[in-house]
Amino acid sequence: MTPPRVAVIGGGVAGMAAAYRLRCLLGPAAEIVVFEQSGRLGGKLCTIEFAGRPYDVGAEAFLVRRAEVVELLTELGMLDELIHPAPVGASMRAGGRTNPMPGRTLLGVPASADAVRDVLSPEAVRRVAAEPSLPPVRLDGDVSVGALVRERFGDEVIDRLVDPLLGGIYAGRADALGLRATIPTLAGALDSGVGSLVAAAAALTPRVWTLGAGQPRTPVFGTLRHGLGSLIDRLAEASGARLRLGGTVTGLTRVDCTWRVHLGSDTVAVDGVVVAAPAPAAGKLLAEVAPAAATEFAAIEVASMAVVSLALPAGTRLPANSGVLIASGDRRQDGMPFTVKAFTYSSRKWAHLDSTGPVLVRGSIGRVRETAVLQVDDADLIAAARSDLAELAGVAAEPVQASVTRWGGGLPQYDVGHVGRRSRIEAAVAEVPGLAVAGASLRGVGVPGCLATAQAAAARVAAHILGRYRQPSGTMGSCPA
Ligand SMILES: Cc1cc2nc3c(=O)[nH]c(=O)nc-3n(C[C@H](O)[C@H](O)[C@H](O)COP(=O)(O)OP(=O)(O)OC[C@H]3O[C@@H](n4cnc5c(N)ncnc54)[C@H](O)[C@@H]3O)c2cc1C
Repeated sequence: MTPPRVAVIGGGVAGMAAAYRLRCLLGPAAEIVVFEQSGRLGGKLCTIEFAGRPYDVGAEAFLVRRAEVVELLTELGMLDELIHPAPVGASMRAGGRTNPMPGRTLLGVPASADAVRDVLSPEAVRRVAAEPSLPPVRLDGDVSVGALVRERFGDEVIDRLVDPLLGGIYAGRADALGLRATIPTLAGALDSGVGSLVAAAAALTPRVWTLGAGQPRTPVFGTLRHGLGSLIDRLAEASGARLRLGGTVTGLTRVDCTWRVHLGSDTVAVDGVVVAAPAPAAGKLLAEVAPAAATEFAAIEVASMAVVSLALPAGTRLPANSGVLIASGDRRQDGMPFTVKAFTYSSRKWAHLDSTGPVLVRGSIGRVRETAVLQVDDADLIAAARSDLAELAGVAAEPVQASVTRWGGGLPQYDVGHVGRRSRIEAAVAEVPGLAVAGASLRGVGVPGCLATAQAAAARVAAHILGRYRQPSGTMGSCPA
């Protein structure tokens, strides 16, 4: 009997984690093929050699409060690669001032008036203090984070806190992002009867999490000493997958109980498929085999962004914090908007990047539907980032090295109703035997959310394949549906 063959489409972290999990579930004989259209694995996990060090120019960290990444690192024997940020807080530029990031907020939603006193005007602080005595919040379906927070606190909490924080994660706008998908814990607390946003945020951000001034006591984030690309390398090795790089999968068809993966005129027959490509590509790939899911994927908007990496001369002094988030309406002294929406002072934030060599800083640029800022050449983006850095941090040194990494369509937008859309995608895919979907479009754009979907997708496809191989005759059984 020929061993089963499974296709994974997309070699980002979701696809590579699915390939690894399929190997665990299907055993050594299975053939696992990863189809990746670009010439490298990793997708938005991308570690480059920069100023002599491994440097992440896509995702740079992951949440360690969620279990997925730490569990995977443990399984892969990589736990000693895990490092946490230095115990310095971040800062926030809002209302023309740069302040320490407030300590107790839930993605910018204040857990108390005291927590946000330094960032907001006295009138806005008064509204935060008064919010618990407003009539209780009643969530009816989903709502945009912006609409809910503006209604309870006014505009400043959105403009100065929530928008910069959510913008950092989604490159999105709080007024368009759906509460249930982007801050599910807050939605859950409100569903359970907590009537005030302050009370819900307080319950969800215990005092023990912070030392004040945004400085975490227990690590919230982690990264890998040799860059997040080292996770991809290890997954590729442990999965034993056959890698087909540099070819775009153009379509999927189902023939009896098996699948055909099409790459232009080339066709590969497989027994099961995990689609781990971004939403626009997943929409196209599923058009024939799961049209309802394809339509939902196609409706997910994506935001483009760029990362500007700067290596400054050794000895350059950065502010004594891990970086700065910039509120979207904030302006420079010359009245122009900032180009960069956040700087990470990498050599301050990560001890392994704080050596005697060049001082590393990365700037993030780009929010949803604001593509004009990206439509300039690399030299202009670098110049704009340097100018913003000079104004925000007083650092004007000429970089010894600079690079721009562009992420077209890099982040899916979880708009109002995303949770329903995700359910409809998963339900439509569940009707098709041997098919599963994974990746950032579904259950969180962060690495842990991608891993969760990868795990579930691999389990689903493996169960389908094992079910068919366990027929009493030892031959492939009939299609369950
Ligand atoms: C600049 C940036 C910074 C980020 N920072 C963080 C962070 O610090 N922490 C965090 O947790 N998350 C962060 N994220 C989010 C996170 O990195 C991504 O959501 C996650 O890596 C996506 O993984 P994925 O496997 O779902 O998709 P991707 O990484 O997009 O991988 C999908 C792969 O599919 C391939 N593909 C697409 N279509 C086809 C096709 N037809 N055929 C074959 N291959 C195809 C693509 O080339 C790509 O390699 C960041 C994202 C960006 C863009």
